[in-house]
Amino acid sequence: MNNFNKAKTWLENADAIIVTAGNGFSKQEGLDILSEKDFDKEFSEVAQKYNVHTVGDALDKQFGSWNEQWKFWSNLVNKYSLNYHPSDTMDQLKSLLKGKEYFIATSSFGHFFEKANFDKKRIFNIFGDWTQMQCSSGLNHGQRSAIKEIKKIISAEEQGKEINDEFVPKCEDCNSPMELYMPLNSHFFPDENANTRFRWFLTNNENKNVVVLELGVDMTSPQLLDPIAALVMQFENWNYVAADLATEDIPDELKEKTVTFNANSHELIKKLCK
Ligand SMILES: [Zn+2]
Repeated sequence: MNNFNKAKTWLENADAIIVTAGNGFSKQEGLDILSEKDFDKEFSEVAQKYNVHTVGDALDKQFGSWNEQWKFWSNLVNKYSLNYHPSDTMDQLKSLLKGKEYFIATSSFGHFFEKANFDKKRIFNIFGDWTQMQCSSGLNHGQRSAIKEIKKIISAEEQGKEINDEFVPKCEDCNSPMELYMPLNSHFFPDENANTRFRWFLTNNENKNVVVLELGVDMTSPQLLDPIAALVMQFENWNYVAADLATEDIPDELKEKTVTFNANSHELIKKLCK
């Protein structure tokens, strides 16, 4: 049986599928945090003032004021997430997961799977979700949606209003300014509820036929690589389908339980759906 047929058979026979989606997957959904393409044009003010030319650099930069920060964040999240239209791949992935138990663990913070209507209870955003916000005090005062605040800023800007301090969302517990819910600094607290749900999912499926489907995972999210590979090795009926990784990226002990495509995850999903 060739690799492709093997992957297809494993997926068809799976009781449960774990999707791990990394940076490469986000990129294909339109968010490439390392790309310089169009950044200076789209965000010229920020690019000039802070000498940043990619989304990643701009996120790492601390701006002079919270209102400046929120003006930029709002435009960024609006462009990549609120205005995001799920690709065909998202629909194809949905049909691949239809009728199966599934869980998605992703390092993408772009809110793509939620927006594509996957079950929110089956998603663990390991690096947060930038449509949500957290307290900037460094204390864990929870997370809440930032969508309303972002839309308010965007519409104020469209009306030519200045984005002043009044637009900066505040923590309901301690009144500190809020910041995007992602690991921009040491304040980041992973989503405990989603983490617990994911752990239960893993425990409940230890003895079942499970396939891990890796999509666009690379070294920028090691949390989605080694721990998952260790589980596949541990449980007899688990297999690993790696869209992007090459065979040499896979530990020797895992090779028999793995097929690798070293390809583009969109193309692979399209083929697997046929
Ligand atoms: Zn607070």
